[in-house]
Amino acid sequence: MAESEQRTKDGCNTTPSKETMVKQEKRDSTLTNGGKGSGDDADSLEELPLDIGEHYLVRRSDDSWHPAEIIQTRYNENESHYEYYIHYDGHNRRLDEWVPRDRIMSSRFDMSEIERHDRNSGTDLLALDSSDRKITRNQKRRHDEINHVQKTYAEMDPTTAALEKEHEAITKVKYIDRVQIGKYEIDTWYFSPYPEEYGKQPKLWICEYCLKYMRLEKTYRYHMSECTHRQPVGKEIYRKGTLSIWEVDGREHKIYCQNLCLLAKLFLDHKTLYFDVEPFLFYILCEVDKHGAHLVGYFSKEKDSQDGNNVACILTLPPFQRQGYGKLLIAFSYELSRIEQTVGSPEKPLSDLGKLSYRSYWSWILLEILRDFRGGTTLGIKDLSQMTSISQTDIISTLQSMNMVKYWKGQHVICVTPKLVEEHIKSSQYKRPRLTVDNSALRWGAPPRKNVKLSKK
Ligand SMILES: [Zn+2]
Repeated sequence: MAESEQRTKDGCNTTPSKETMVKQEKRDSTLTNGGKGSGDDADSLEELPLDIGEHYLVRRSDDSWHPAEIIQTRYNENESHYEYYIHYDGHNRRLDEWVPRDRIMSSRFDMSEIERHDRNSGTDLLALDSSDRKITRNQKRRHDEINHVQKTYAEMDPTTAALEKEHEAITKVKYIDRVQIGKYEIDTWYFSPYPEEYGKQPKLWICEYCLKYMRLEKTYRYHMSECTHRQPVGKEIYRKGTLSIWEVDGREHKIYCQNLCLLAKLFLDHKTLYFDVEPFLFYILCEVDKHGAHLVGYFSKEKDSQDGNNVACILTLPPFQRQGYGKLLIAFSYELSRIEQTVGSPEKPLSDLGKLSYRSYWSWILLEILRDFRGGTTLGIKDLSQMTSISQTDIISTLQSMNMVKYWKGQHVICVTPKLVEEHIKSSQYKRPRLTVDNSALRWGAPPRKNVKLSKK
């Protein structure tokens, strides 16, 4: 916050507007208007920042009004007004955003309204549009599903709730609203720890090839005319049609990998690694055209994972989501594990989108095997794990979700009929991946590992 915003001000004697009256009722000390003018002219009264921690109804981009908490304020020098970083109550923090004052209702919002209304009428007041239309529980549920509404602390176990609260305190303000990368301007979802002067910009400009980040468009334009990269650093290990995958060692290309992690954090809530990239390999998925290889997504992988993880972080950039790239990356990670003759699992916690992709990938792989299995012998969890490189834990949880496993004499036993398999294959949950890995297009050998866990002979 600018120093000038924190000075206290006295002597506001000009006729206050309705808005300032509301504000002054609840103010012990009134803040200045951001250092413009002495405070005696009428203009300076127009904007006094709202209090952090208060709740207001805020208009979202779809014109509906939601109760929201003010998390932070900043003064927009270009447009000479305050902006507010707000969190919509009960919604995922991905939707947190900076809004100008005119999207915030003039009076504070009493949170007990929601409960009272809920009890009396059985409908939710969580979304009102300007005509005061109330949405039903069912509509809200659909809305919540689309927007990935976060669990409330009360719904979590105490340990998780404590961790979430701590995490939220560290990462709650997201200053960078947008990034320009290649031809895409992308709205960001979460905070990312870009160094000080970069981390507080509303928009960053990022070279799509070397991932250098810049504050100014003119610097970016100049960089794009100078930058010699047209593809990721490292080694191309897969090429099929216009798709290519590159392996980048965090030790050899530290800056590139750090830049990638900072960019990824804008779209991942729980990512914690940004700077210690040396113990990791990065697999970069690109779409190639005549201009170069354009970043689509990536996953990182610990070189020697003690926990048997074959993916640390995985991300598809928003413009490329829901087109099968995420599942291609997942399939690719298991293909590498298969070549390494090991099993693996993604590092937890997974993002909500990550969970959906993995669950869908695991179901598809297992259902294909179960459908085609015509062996005279029985098929065990361990066999499935060896065939797919998916860990036994992940296999069991996936089969449990499809009601295909029983716990019998201290062991999990697969329990399916061809009919049950067919039903799942026909269900909407089952989705054949749009993109699959073509092994003949893969040029990769397992790297020598320090701590090779030899399987029993
Ligand atoms: Zn560059």
